[in-house]
Amino acid sequence: MTACGSMGNTSTSSNDTTATTTQEGNHWAAFDGEAALAFTRQQCEFGPRVPATPAHAKCAEWLTATLAESCDTVMVQTGTVQTAKSGQLGIKNIIGIINPEASQRLLLMAHWDTRPWADNDPDPDNHNKPVMGANDGASGVAVLLQLARQLKAEGTTLGVDIVLVDVEDMGENDNEESWGLGTQYWTSHPHVAGYKPLFGILLDMVGSSNATFTREYFSMQYASGFVDLVWKNAAGSHFINAQGGAITDDHVFVNRAGIPCVDIIDMRSDSDTGFCPEWHTVHDTMDAIDPATLAEVGQTLLNVIASLEQ
Ligand SMILES: [Zn+2]
Repeated sequence: MTACGSMGNTSTSSNDTTATTTQEGNHWAAFDGEAALAFTRQQCEFGPRVPATPAHAKCAEWLTATLAESCDTVMVQTGTVQTAKSGQLGIKNIIGIINPEASQRLLLMAHWDTRPWADNDPDPDNHNKPVMGANDGASGVAVLLQLARQLKAEGTTLGVDIVLVDVEDMGENDNEESWGLGTQYWTSHPHVAGYKPLFGILLDMVGSSNATFTREYFSMQYASGFVDLVWKNAAGSHFINAQGGAITDDHVFVNRAGIPCVDIIDMRSDSDTGFCPEWHTVHDTMDAIDPATLAEVGQTLLNVIASLEQ
């Protein structure tokens, strides 16, 4: 029962039809999945982005510079968190702001750190090796980097805040508060006083060819109307219109802080962990990433943004 958070009830309802509706009349160019794939690879080329390592520091610089190419303002929030197993750690939450003056705002989040321990690997010898996190970390960040690039190229009237959070993935089993530490820091130190977007969308593990995105339990508890909006705008068959399991992921802390937040996360009803087979193993590498899935998720976000612009 661990997770990118913890997996709870994994039962799904019987009406698992796929949501394949695409926004009609959407003014955007199609989301570029190959470009998002390249952004995923660029993160992996730093090595595992384990907090307090040189790869993590270098990737932070690259993420900041890359967001700066597309966003009006970039902020790097630094702070200190208490981890369950590794003492105190400095964090960097990297925040890209598009249209800072717009009052209608959408929050988009993904974690950019990777887990120091592949403790779900079938080979116990790998349990203390780091996870590359092509899917668990890099995929969600890559979709948001590419989204920012396309919004810059085409323009939007909506305010968009891209919050790349640190130290999501150093949690331990049966200790909910040990996950999402960068997000917990951000919710208690918002980058703008009184920050109040319309709602938020979190991306986590959005790169697998076999991904299934179901309606995650806590998202439904706190933000069911926004789950409806996202799934209505879903751009392909990976989005399954069925109740999914409960995941303690970054969105839980955002919802508790009063911002409705929807988790788009790959949940599997056919696995013991509730996640893809590569989850928290040394096999979470570029081999497991499919640009078509990245494109579907990115297109869904573009469709949602188009619907909010009206
Ligand atoms: Zn994870």
